Amino acid sequence: MDIHALPIEERIRWLFQRAAQHAAEFCGSESVLARQRYLAEHPTALAALKCMDGRLNLSVATRTPIGLIQPFRNLGGRFDLGWPHLGEVLSDWVLSQVGAGRRVLLLLNYHHSRGCAQRGCAGFGFDLAAARAHMQALRAQVEQVFGRAHDSVYPLVCGFETDEDAICLDAPDGRSIDLAALTPTEAAELPQRLMALYPDMPERVRADLMPLLLGNLAHVAAVRAAGRAPEVEHREWTLCVGRGFDVLHMPNHALIVGPYSPQLDQPIETAAGIIAANMRAGRIPEDGFLLLASVPYETVGPERERATLKACFLRDFALEVIAARHPTLASRVHVRTAVMDWRRRRLELLPA
Ligand SMILES: [Zn+2]
Repeated sequence: MDIHALPIEERIRWLFQRAAQHAAEFCGSESVLARQRYLAEHPTALAALKCMDGRLNLSVATRTPIGLIQPFRNLGGRFDLGWPHLGEVLSDWVLSQVGAGRRVLLLLNYHHSRGCAQRGCAGFGFDLAAARAHMQALRAQVEQVFGRAHDSVYPLVCGFETDEDAICLDAPDGRSIDLAALTPTEAAELPQRLMALYPDMPERVRADLMPLLLGNLAHVAAVRAAGRAPEVEHREWTLCVGRGFDVLHMPNHALIVGPYSPQLDQPIETAAGIIAANMRAGRIPEDGFLLLASVPYETVGPERERATLKACFLRDFALEVIAARHPTLASRVHVRTAVMDWRRRRLELLPA
């Protein structure tokens, strides 16, 4: 069934069904135990700073249990640790992990397409070199904040090639390991290669990075065997603002604007522009698009109440930006506001 061709109300229903399925899967005993077992064997805490592009599903591409890689997403994969909200959210997360005795591996992730530059990252004007350079600059910021010896926090710049979902590891000196290009013999030497590329990486972190890389090698082999066709065009019809959208982790349905940039109007305007262009080109129906605002909370009471206020603020802010800069699109908006019970990954719709 082509979801993109359905009337907007049906697409919205489908999206919330998917979100509910994801939450149910996340809370299932098998998933909970798989995460616990994985964490016991691989205690390094994992996070990824990456683009909002739905093709970047690191959990699937590394065969890691869902919910273990903490995502920080923003339109175009641009981040600056000087942004007050991003700096705080990331820092809180890192300190809570380190406080629990875990090292932290931060994946600073750019993306591109080998087959066609235009399937790369629109946020960087499809310029792979610019995206790589941005992530190396972010790496330097992480070092400034969390230390240059990398004993507790290791920033790792890595690329995601979306045609085959292959990971490429970049060292600051310009060398790299492209997992898509490894022969079986080279793959067997990965631990030694990692040591040579990142001599300063703590042994624990290296040991916990290895399963992700082996998982990616297996995933890439499966993608090749399946002869998967790459997604060729933008067909997004949902604009998400806020955090906690990994339940909507699927290619080509949603554009996710994290609440991080102090100039929040810009990524919202860009995302709305992409959806408007999708409608104009007939790639999605013109009957409407979804604006979904959501903010996660961990505890009930004041934290949930504040998440509610934040979600309403983000919704109203996005509506204003869209009305001012894409008035035609604004007349087609369908709005949903939610908070997310983060421990259960469950979206809770707020009354309209
Ligand atoms: Zn991108």
